[in-house]
Amino acid sequence: MSKPPIFQEELINRYDKPGPRYTSYPPATEFHDGITESDYREWAKTSNEELIPKPLSLYFHIPFCSSICFYCACNKVITKRKERAEPYLQDLYREIEIQSQLFDPDREVRQLHWGGGTPGFLSHQQSKELMDNISSHFKLNPGEDVDYSIELDPRVIEKGGISHLRGLGFNRISIGVQDLDEKVQVAVNRVQSLEITAAIINDARRVGIHSINIDLIYGLPFQTLKSFSKTLDQIIELDPDRIAMYNYAHLPHRFPPQRRIQAEDLPDSSEKLEILHSAIDKLCAAGYQYIGMDHFAKPGDELSVAQRNGSLHRNFQGYSAHAQCDSIGFGISAIGNVGDNFIQNTTSLEAYHDELEQGHLPVVRGFCSQTEDLLRREIIQDLVCHFELDMGGVGKKWGIDFADHFANELAGLDAMEEDGLIDRTGDKIIVCDPGRLLVRNICMVFDSYQKLPKSAGLFSRTV
Ligand code: SF4
Repeated sequence: MSKPPIFQEELINRYDKPGPRYTSYPPATEFHDGITESDYREWAKTSNEELIPKPLSLYFHIPFCSSICFYCACNKVITKRKERAEPYLQDLYREIEIQSQLFDPDREVRQLHWGGGTPGFLSHQQSKELMDNISSHFKLNPGEDVDYSIELDPRVIEKGGISHLRGLGFNRISIGVQDLDEKVQVAVNRVQSLEITAAIINDARRVGIHSINIDLIYGLPFQTLKSFSKTLDQIIELDPDRIAMYNYAHLPHRFPPQRRIQAEDLPDSSEKLEILHSAIDKLCAAGYQYIGMDHFAKPGDELSVAQRNGSLHRNFQGYSAHAQCDSIGFGISAIGNVGDNFIQNTTSLEAYHDELEQGHLPVVRGFCSQTEDLLRREIIQDLVCHFELDMGGVGKKWGIDFADHFANELAGLDAMEEDGLIDRTGDKIIVCDPGRLLVRNICMVFDSYQKLPKSAGLFSRTV
C-alpha cells in the first residue's frame, strides 16, 4: 500500500507556487482557437480506424444550480426553475446526435460522467429523457466493470432521486459537502446539514451504488484547525469510498462569486497548512490511501487498486482506473480527448445554441499534440499517478537517450533531490514521501509550456 505523504512545512512554503493540476498535458491553458470542428472530425475518424478502437468515455456538462456557492469557479447558471434546463437539453440532444455519427456505434461506453453545475438539478423526467437519448445513440452497458457517475448536491435531490439515478444505470456518486461547520457554510452560502448528506449516502448504499466520493475544501472562510477536524471526523464516520480535498484558491478577479468572500475571513497561510497537515494525518490514520493531488481512497477502492497495479490514469475528471478510453465532451465548456488530441466546446450558452442550430459542433479551441508533447505527457502521468519514473524504459520506448534529451530537466531536479523530494537510483526517479505533496512542482520541471512567460498567473498554488 502507498505510504502517506510526509508533511514538511518548510519545504512546502519554499516550493509552493502556482502550477497546473495536470488533468491534461499540455494544460488546457495551451488550447487555442486554431483547432476546428473539421480537425475533430478527422481525429474521430482516425480513432475508429485503429485496429482495436478504444472504448468511449462520455462527459456531460449540466450547468444548472439552484443557488450560488460563493467559492464556486465552475461554469454554471443559477436558477430554481427546472424548465430553464429545457432549451439546453434540446441543444444537448442535437449535439449527441451529431457526435454519435462520428464514432463507430459498436464502441462501448466504459465511463460516463454527468458534471456541472449540479446534474441532480434535472427532474426525474429530464434525467430519464437525457439518459434515454444517450443510450439510443451510444452503446451503453451498465455493469460493475464500468463507471457511470454523477455529481450530486444533496440539497437539490428530489424524493426517490437516488433510486431513480440507480435505475438509470449510475453506479457511482460524488457528493459536494466542502465543510460541515455552520459558520463556514453560511459564509460560503452553502448550508447543508450532515443529516441530508448522510441520508443520500444511506439511500445510495441501499440501492446498490457501489462507490461514494465526498468533496471537501480546505481554506474556506472561518475554517479553523478545530472546526475542519470535526468536519473530517463526521465525514470519516459516513465511511465514503473516496474523499477529494481541494485547496480553496481565492481569485475574486477571475471568479465573481468569490467577491462575496472577504479575504480577512480566510485562514492565514500557516493555519491553512496546519489544516492540510492534520487532515492528511487524520485520513491516513482512518485507513484512506493517499492517491495523489487532493485524492484519498480506501485500499480496496478501484483507484487504490489501479495505483498498486500501475494502471492509474489522470484525466479531466481527476484520477481514473479507465486509462484506455477516447473521451467525448458534451455541453458548454466540455473537453474531449480523442486519440492524442484535445477539443473544447464554447462556454457561452448562446453560442452553443447557435452553432448546434446551424448543424455545427460548438468547438472553440483544442490542441493537436506533437511527439514531444506525448513523451512529456507520459512522464507527467507516471509521476502524478505512480510517483515514479523509469527513465530507461521511457528512453527505450521513445527511442531517445533520456539523459541527453532531458539534460536541462535533470539538472533542474538537482535541488529537489538535495531537498529530499526525489531520489534518483539507477534509471529511476522516485518521488519520496516529502515530495508527494509537491508532485506538481516535480512535473513542472518536465512541462515545456511552464517555461513560457504567458503561463504565469493562470494557475492555483501547488499546495
Ligand atoms: S459549487 Fe457546485 S453547486 Fe455550488 S454554485 Fe458551483 S457548481 Fe453550483
